[in-house]
Amino acid sequence: MAGAAVLLWETAGRTAACFSATTAAFHAGNAISLCERALTFLDRSHPKPEFAEFRAGKVFSMRMDVVSFTRQLIDIESTTGNEGPVGQFLAQELGRLGYEVQVTVAELGRANVFATSPQEPQSAVIFSTHMDTVPPYIPSSEDEQHIYGRGACDAKGIIAVQVAAAERLKQEGIYVGLLFVVGEERDSLGAKVANEQANSCKFLINGEPTENRIATASKGALRVEITASGRMAHSAYPELGDSAIDKLVEALHRLKRMQLPSDPEVGPCTMNVGVIEGGRAPNVIPDKARALLLFRLIGPSEPLREQIVATVGDLAKVDFTLDIPFVRLRTFEDLPTMVAAFTTDIPALSNWGQPLLLGPGSIHVAHTEGEYVEKKQLHQAVDLYCGIAKKLMGK
Ligand SMILES: [Zn+2]
Repeated sequence: MAGAAVLLWETAGRTAACFSATTAAFHAGNAISLCERALTFLDRSHPKPEFAEFRAGKVFSMRMDVVSFTRQLIDIESTTGNEGPVGQFLAQELGRLGYEVQVTVAELGRANVFATSPQEPQSAVIFSTHMDTVPPYIPSSEDEQHIYGRGACDAKGIIAVQVAAAERLKQEGIYVGLLFVVGEERDSLGAKVANEQANSCKFLINGEPTENRIATASKGALRVEITASGRMAHSAYPELGDSAIDKLVEALHRLKRMQLPSDPEVGPCTMNVGVIEGGRAPNVIPDKARALLLFRLIGPSEPLREQIVATVGDLAKVDFTLDIPFVRLRTFEDLPTMVAAFTTDIPALSNWGQPLLLGPGSIHVAHTEGEYVEKKQLHQAVDLYCGIAKKLMGK
């Protein structure tokens, strides 16, 4: 079936396994209904006319228009949790372009999309990024030089670039795979599910906005919850109570004074006190207070965890709620480099070969109201992805 798209569905058992691995509330008995939902997800019973035409044997080869494809993707709202429609769109488009498309349900209504060419199902190079965005949804618009909208650079422009690069490579007889996952912006759920999937990938080129520079490292993240407890009393008689807020404030002061590591190449480990909450009323000595912190890691988290626990001492309870490791990445020839101070799906995709990190757009505008990507960077990125893939494959 050269040039044919085959939709490979996970078997009931496999889907159940993926699903049960990620959702505590899963019941083994609903595997079948889960698969039925997965089928509905792709709306197989109502293929688009192009798809029908394709099934009749027409071979598609298309030069992608990255700008319009980016805008099409932006216009499908896909804030984390709502990736269903954009995944469906991508699966259909990739099927139409002749890829074998595998859809793996990560959670009801949310599925990863993995596409390979029938000519080379065991691709050594995979382009990957995420389909979800942060809220709020912002529809697409453009001017001469930019595309605006939610996900323009993080990461829908990158999806368009990766598909366009794969299509251009295909015209030269070089076949790469494409992996688009859900949930990167929250907990890397899609990447964790994909990591259980068998693959033959040797090099994973992960896309995040790096302004088309190769990342030499990606900082990790350690989320910390500090909870102080006390005893309520009338505020006129503070000696009868025990203020949780006083303890929390003191703990935070100590943490702010803590010496954090720094690396001449990667930069400093940084700390943000993102949330503080607690207390009941101005005239009540507070019995509870809590702060949520995020450290950007430049090394292993263990020494820092110990330092935090020792610094807080018995002022409050310390819980570590998320730990994404720091990773050093390979550079590529003499391409310009950068350090990603943000986290990516790369640590969760450890079974997908050696990772590289590169993509168009700036992280400084990602997650902002004015998110955009430069059209010029999109076109440059297609060239870069093609060039890197060819060299990695020795072509
Ligand atoms: Zn991103």
